[in-house]
Amino acid sequence: MDDSGIDRCPVCLSPATEGAEWVLLSRHRTSAGYIEYCLSACGCITVLRDGDLLKSVPSGIGRTSAPRGDRRGAG
Ligand SMILES: [Zn+2]
Repeated sequence: MDDSGIDRCPVCLSPATEGAEWVLLSRHRTSAGYIEYCLSACGCITVLRDGDLLKSVPSGIGRTSAPRGDRRGAG
Protein backbone atom coordinates (compact mmCIF):
# COMPACT_ATOMS: atom_id res chain seq x y z
CA MET A 1 0.00 0.00 0.00
CA ASP A 2 1.13 3.45 -0.71
CA ASP A 3 1.25 6.14 1.87
CA SER A 4 0.97 8.85 -0.71
CA GLY A 5 -1.62 11.42 0.10
CA ILE A 6 -2.47 10.26 3.59
CA ASP A 7 -0.27 10.57 6.62
CA ARG A 8 -0.73 8.10 9.39
CA CYS A 9 0.11 8.51 13.01
CA PRO A 10 3.11 6.26 13.72
CA VAL A 11 1.69 5.46 17.13
CA CYS A 12 -1.97 4.56 16.68
CA LEU A 13 -1.85 4.35 12.88
CA SER A 14 -4.95 6.44 12.57
CA PRO A 15 -5.09 8.52 9.42
CA ALA A 16 -4.06 12.07 10.10
CA THR A 17 -6.44 14.73 9.03
CA GLU A 18 -5.42 16.83 6.11
CA GLY A 19 -3.11 19.59 7.16
CA ALA A 20 -2.72 18.17 10.64
CA GLU A 21 0.51 19.18 12.28
CA TRP A 22 2.50 17.86 15.15
CA VAL A 23 2.84 20.19 18.07
CA LEU A 24 6.24 20.51 19.65
CA LEU A 25 5.68 20.27 23.38
CA SER A 26 9.23 20.36 24.60
CA ARG A 27 12.74 20.29 23.28
CA HIS A 28 15.98 20.12 25.11
CA ARG A 29 19.52 19.08 24.47
CA THR A 30 21.12 16.14 26.18
CA SER A 31 24.48 14.50 25.92
CA ALA A 32 22.90 12.01 23.52
CA GLY A 33 21.34 14.63 21.30
CA TYR A 34 18.23 16.74 21.03
CA ILE A 35 15.18 15.29 22.69
CA GLU A 36 11.83 16.42 21.37
CA TYR A 37 8.35 15.73 22.70
CA CYS A 38 5.67 16.05 20.06
CA LEU A 39 1.89 15.88 20.33
CA SER A 40 -0.03 14.48 17.42
CA ALA A 41 -3.38 15.78 16.30
CA CYS A 42 -4.93 12.50 17.47
CA GLY A 43 -3.52 12.94 20.95
CA CYS A 44 -0.54 10.61 20.77
CA ILE A 45 2.80 11.73 22.11
CA THR A 46 6.12 10.79 20.59
CA VAL A 47 9.61 11.28 21.88
CA LEU A 48 12.29 11.90 19.29
CA ARG A 49 16.03 12.02 19.58
CA ASP A 50 17.68 13.86 16.76
CA GLY A 51 14.62 13.09 14.68
CA ASP A 52 14.57 9.38 15.43
CA LEU A 53 11.60 7.89 17.20
CA LEU A 54 12.60 6.92 20.70
CA LYS A 55 9.30 6.31 22.41
CA SER A 56 5.63 6.72 21.75
CA VAL A 57 2.63 7.08 24.00
CA PRO A 58 -0.78 6.33 22.51
CA SER A 59 -3.60 8.75 23.09
CA GLY A 60 -5.33 8.23 26.42
CA ILE A 61 -2.28 6.77 28.11
CA GLY A 62 0.37 8.65 29.97
CA ARG A 63 -1.42 9.91 33.01
CA THR A 64 -0.72 6.85 35.07
CA SER A 65 2.15 8.51 36.83
CA ALA A 66 0.31 11.69 37.63
CA PRO A 67 0.86 12.89 41.15
CA ARG A 68 -2.08 12.35 43.44
CA GLY A 69 -3.14 13.74 46.73
CA ASP A 70 -2.63 17.39 46.03
CA ARG A 71 -5.66 18.03 43.91
CA ARG A 72 -9.26 17.20 44.42
CA GLY A 73 -11.97 16.53 41.90
CA ALA A 74 -9.88 14.68 39.40
CA GLY A 75 -11.74 13.29 36.48
ZN1 LIG B 1 -2.07 8.69 17.12
